[in-house]
Amino acid sequence: MATVQVDIVTPERKVFQGEADIVIARGVEGELGVMAGHIPLVTPLKTAPVRIKQGDKETLIAVSGGFLEVRPDKVNILADTAELPEEIDVERAKKAKARHETILKRLDKTDKDYLRHKRALERAEVRLQVANSKS
Ligand code: ATP
Repeated sequence: MATVQVDIVTPERKVFQGEADIVIARGVEGELGVMAGHIPLVTPLKTAPVRIKQGDKETLIAVSGGFLEVRPDKVNILADTAELPEEIDVERAKKAKARHETILKRLDKTDKDYLRHKRALERAEVRLQVANSKS
């Protein structure tokens, strides 16, 4: 089976480099599965786990923001932040989740800070989900 090469980078560092049978990511227009031979495209990404499957192995990576670019036989993800399961500080993510949940409870949806806290809550939730996937 042909594989695609996957590179996940942030402005600060290279987070992941490897081969995959399929890469599954959540673009702004919905979930996307990329295998070798996929048509080239660029899409903004939502905050969500990116799943990298190779054989029986699946690696989840916590990704927030940025873009996914599909080239022939290559997938590049340039994310605002990205962490592997073993890099995630679970206590930090739990604290962030609780903090933003508390703030959001007393904020109206029209408040100028609402979206900022909602996005931060999403990042914390995705980090916890990915940390839990550690095998
Ligand atoms: P916090 O409120 O805990 O700082 P945050 O969502 O505001 O979280 P980000 O702005 O998304 O943090 O990320 C800042 C940097 O910290 C990035 O390099 C990101 O990879 C890292 N980071 C954030 N939370 C965690 C975590 N729980 N474990 C490991 N790295 C994290």
